[in-house]
Amino acid sequence: MTGAAAKLVLATRNPAKLGELSRILADGNVPVDLVTLDDFPPMPEVAETGRTFAANALVKARAVAEFTGLPAVADDSGICIDFLNGMPGVLSARWSGVHGDDEANLRLVLGQLADVPVGQRGAHFACAAALVLPSGSEHVTEGVMSGSVTDAPRGTNGFGYDPIFVPESSELTTAEMDPADKDAISHRGKALRALAPVIAALLGG
Ligand code: IMP
Repeated sequence: MTGAAAKLVLATRNPAKLGELSRILADGNVPVDLVTLDDFPPMPEVAETGRTFAANALVKARAVAEFTGLPAVADDSGICIDFLNGMPGVLSARWSGVHGDDEANLRLVLGQLADVPVGQRGAHFACAAALVLPSGSEHVTEGVMSGSVTDAPRGTNGFGYDPIFVPESSELTTAEMDPADKDAISHRGKALRALAPVIAALLGG
């Protein structure tokens, strides 16, 4: 590679998500200079009006690429609960009505599943990751982590619904897992690891 690494903006202000995104891209040895929205003047919030994770990830990445003039990566993710017909889904961050109130969102889900027996508490996390270049080129990848919802919160790592989600083949909630162990199996890890070669191919040289 010659010259300075290309800049890539990670389109999130959520510090926990930012940590996961930068860890996964660093582990993938993607040769880019990662910057965040904090490196730019305040940008207006982008309304997540899409009905799918992919649509919302694209809306965010397009807005950030346009605002910064740089390639941007955005993700959109959520928990899809079988008993709730796949909800909260794209509404995960604001399920209780208040955007980003993780505790209220998690408590509402536990209440909604209060009488649901162990064998019927299946759920999965889903993530779409979008790369948008200022040229207009767009790429989306997706990842899923299957598991089930506990009947009470456990653990302090992670964010959102992590304290009430146990992945398949684990007895720990994702909030009890080591962050690197979660990355290895997570929806976000899978979507971003699928996007990493695309980023490397388009920006790495
Ligand atoms: P986003 O920021 O619009 O992608 O919202 C994602 C929401 O889904 C978060 O606020 C969390 O409530 C939930 N979520 C997504 N990924 C995870 C995860 O890895 N652990 C726990 N909650 C998650």
